[in-house]
Amino acid sequence: MTSCIFCKIVEGEIPSEKIYEDDHVVAFMDVTPVTKGHVLLIPKTHRENLYEFSETEAANLFAVAPKIANTLKETFTPAGMNILQNNGAPAGQAVFHFHMHFIPRYDETDGFS
Ligand code: 5GP
Ligand code: ZN
Repeated sequence: MTSCIFCKIVEGEIPSEKIYEDDHVVAFMDVTPVTKGHVLLIPKTHRENLYEFSETEAANLFAVAPKIANTLKETFTPAGMNILQNNGAPAGQAVFHFHMHFIPRYDETDGFS
């Protein structure tokens, strides 16, 4: 039994609004979006952070990034987009299953800096 909340999302044990899934990764809406359309992309295999990735795992994950970004661009028509991920608590990581944030940006008043 895992206690990892994102492993539970992968397994469907807790609900999430998934927007993409393949053999290697899942993308779903952030439960507390910092802007409209905030999405998280995660590997299905538990990896705490980027340091634990093999090159193949990294390639499988980043291969999907343009698809996610384009889906959000078409759906929400943002003016820009931040792609970021945090490694370690001092860097702001709160969930210790690797995740890449996709944060659509609208204008300087969209609340995210
Ligand atoms: P971090 O600070 O670790 O880079 O970001 C963690 C992100 O996970 C936050 O944006 C937070 O809102 C999101 N999050 C935490 N728990 C859940 C959850 O149960 N479901 C979803 N969809 N997102 C979550
Ligand atoms: Zn996990």
